[in-house]
Amino acid sequence: MALDEPEDRVVEIDEEDEWQLYASAGYAAIEPSFEEEEAESKEEEVWFDGDDFDLGGKSVNWDAPPCPAPLGIAHVIKLGVCDHCLSRIGGPRISESPSGSAIRSQAYERDIELSTKVLQDICPLCENLFEDVDNIVDRVFESLSGVEFSTMQFGIHLPKDLVQEEDRIRTKYGAPGSNPLKGSIVEAIHNNIRKLERKVDFVKERPDVMVLVDGLTLRVDVDVRPVFLYGRYRKLSREIPQTRWPCRACRGRSEGCESCNGSGLQYVDSVQDLIGEPVKQALDADDTSFHGMGREDIDVRCLGSGRPFVLEIKRPRKRAYPLSDLVKMVNQNGTSKVEVDTLEWCNKSKINNVKQSRSEKSYTIRFRVGEIGKEADIIEAIQSLSGQTIEQETPKRVSHRRAAKIRKRKLVSIENIQVEDQEVQLTLRCEAGTYVKELVHSDDGRTNPSVQSAIGSNCEVIWLDVEEIHAE
Ligand SMILES: [Zn+2]
Ligand SMILES: [Zn+2]
Repeated sequence: MALDEPEDRVVEIDEEDEWQLYASAGYAAIEPSFEEEEAESKEEEVWFDGDDFDLGGKSVNWDAPPCPAPLGIAHVIKLGVCDHCLSRIGGPRISESPSGSAIRSQAYERDIELSTKVLQDICPLCENLFEDVDNIVDRVFESLSGVEFSTMQFGIHLPKDLVQEEDRIRTKYGAPGSNPLKGSIVEAIHNNIRKLERKVDFVKERPDVMVLVDGLTLRVDVDVRPVFLYGRYRKLSREIPQTRWPCRACRGRSEGCESCNGSGLQYVDSVQDLIGEPVKQALDADDTSFHGMGREDIDVRCLGSGRPFVLEIKRPRKRAYPLSDLVKMVNQNGTSKVEVDTLEWCNKSKINNVKQSRSEKSYTIRFRVGEIGKEADIIEAIQSLSGQTIEQETPKRVSHRRAAKIRKRKLVSIENIQVEDQEVQLTLRCEAGTYVKELVHSDDGRTNPSVQSAIGSNCEVIWLDVEEIHAE
């Protein structure tokens, strides 16, 4: 029986890249760009023809010069700037920024009528977003309740017109070198989180959780990043596929399907679930993905030190667990079907590593011969294939999902040929990607030479085992 299995799902890299873009957005350059400032101030620079006052190349409006000049501070207070923004643009930025309320009360002392001249109570620089920092932090931790994490990548999305307006006012009236809004708000949120009991490190790569806040609606999106386990599995059953395989009748929708008794699965067990389910439960995760170094057919066992794989555990609420316990749980769950010797934590990059590896493999195969001749002749005929390079046209059984082409594969060695009545058994080491069943029965001449052509009689495969995968 040569059933073929569904292709692996493609890793969703695009989605992640998008996240990275958003999440890194809060870390934009803190230093203002002088080119931008020049462009901003061109409309303003006509009227003054005295000695030019050099402030990073921009000319000065003497009614409202940039902070920290008292007139500049008075001007931004009149615009309605909040204490948080007053602190970050009021300068001077020698050591620590002075508090906004201190800057404000000094300004009120200089001009007792100033407080009556404030135009509005919505800050034009942040639309009072700094007042929401505690609220944002609460929402973030609410979204993450029950989730174990120690590193976080944090991003905030701000409306473009707010960012532009803030930039315009800040570069015109703000103290030189003032922090832009986005960086400042992210910093304020980081600081609030740091004050909590919980220890969180802010990182830009490989965070446990990614958090994205919408500055307009205060909506919080949380992405709990997957964890990855590397191991090698032995498949001891000839009845299970490597990955979960949706029911053909209902295509995995499962509801009321008689064909699969509502499981949604064509096969109740798979290597993926026998290994993945106990791990998923232990880590309180949502789902798993399985990435194997190739795969064997359902009816093929995989023995020796096993086939390398990476198990991706999605949205785990726990990220730490004793590996020896996980191994025990997997082996208990896999009873006589699947087993692993060890598991280790790994990074996502290990998936490519495993997927791209082209290791030689050894197989043991048993087949029935139509008209069997003398044992010595059979052994000699089969042995003549050892060391040869064979040509394989895409097998009929996979032709609907594989490109039609001829592959050349080397048969490294053939050993241990045994002949018993009508049956022959041998061990074969060959290059990665060799179709071994086809090598034996020739696939109607599409594999050349083959065991069938070498011994000159019809060959029918009885069973096949992967004996060893010669990976590092
Ligand atoms: Zn503000
Ligand atoms: Zn079904």
